[in-house]
Amino acid sequence: MKLAALGEVMVELAPQAAGQSGRAGGQQGKPLLAQSYAGDTYNTAVYVARHGVDVSYVTLLGDDPYSEEVLTILAGESIDTGAIARLPGRCPGLYMIQNTPDGERYFTYWRGEAPARELFADTARREALKAHLRQMDCLYLSGITLAIMSPQARAELLAFLEEYRADGGRVAFDSNYRPRLWASPEAARDAVAEFLRQTDMALLTFEDEQALWGDRRPGSCIKRNTGFGVSELVIKRGAEPVLLQFDGELTALEVPPVASVVDTTGAGDSFNAGYLGARLQGATPERSIAAGNRCAARVIGHRGAIIPRAEFLGAATPAAEAC
Ligand code: ADP
Repeated sequence: MKLAALGEVMVELAPQAAGQSGRAGGQQGKPLLAQSYAGDTYNTAVYVARHGVDVSYVTLLGDDPYSEEVLTILAGESIDTGAIARLPGRCPGLYMIQNTPDGERYFTYWRGEAPARELFADTARREALKAHLRQMDCLYLSGITLAIMSPQARAELLAFLEEYRADGGRVAFDSNYRPRLWASPEAARDAVAEFLRQTDMALLTFEDEQALWGDRRPGSCIKRNTGFGVSELVIKRGAEPVLLQFDGELTALEVPPVASVVDTTGAGDSFNAGYLGARLQGATPERSIAAGNRCAARVIGHRGAIIPRAEFLGAATPAAEAC
């Protein structure tokens, strides 16, 4: 099974945990920053690949050292980078994490000129990319992928998904609603609804659905998404049971308790990876949810979205059991 994940990977700057550096802080008591890379579909791609599925990551990067390093990291994760276009003179988007005194995390982004925003925009690159995507069994994208694209490029991608599904391809989608990326909630709802109509597996977080659609109860979320024609619907709700609507049946599956939740960054992304990793290797939706929970449990017990590869894979074999 081959999966392509489409979206954006950014440079991340996060305050180092106390004592992590063993050195004094920066100017004016500012914390020292640790640099890494993250992005919702990128996080998922990394963990799906660690489940032993062939993964291609699809984005655009620049020709700077950070773009080079992303390619090196992806290759180290055995992820195919052949469909990643490089734009001369450009560099990836960046975000910083701030820990506020009340324990919350605050995110600031510099991503307006990120090359990933040109996904599916250029005609020649788009045709080459379509040929690549047609070889995949499953495409994975999110509301963030849609939000950073131009409306014209989005329309091209939507038309492609229709054709791709008619040829037997499957589409997995997570709405990942980030209001700041959209001109208005209506614009987000319109775009997300169009793509849900071309989605086979919707892996949604109820909190995002509430923010986007005003759902008060999961029932309205289930009704709306089955109305869009989603045949496999998974609704994540933090520590609350995961809801599965599949084959006309609604099931609530318990989330095993996690003893020490260190950082929930990447919980939904890693759940999706566990789910897709298992599902694409033939597991039932129920077993795939258990795999999603296992993967997310490990990630939230660790600081940051990506657990170092050796640490992650060292814990269990074979790779598919790693989460
Ligand atoms: P998101 O990261 O998109 O906000 P959720 O918070 O719903 O997503 O979490 C996604 C998954 O992560 C859950 O379905 C569950 O598997 C796991 N998870 C999140 N929070 C907890 C928690 N407190 N205890 C156990 N598992 C959790």
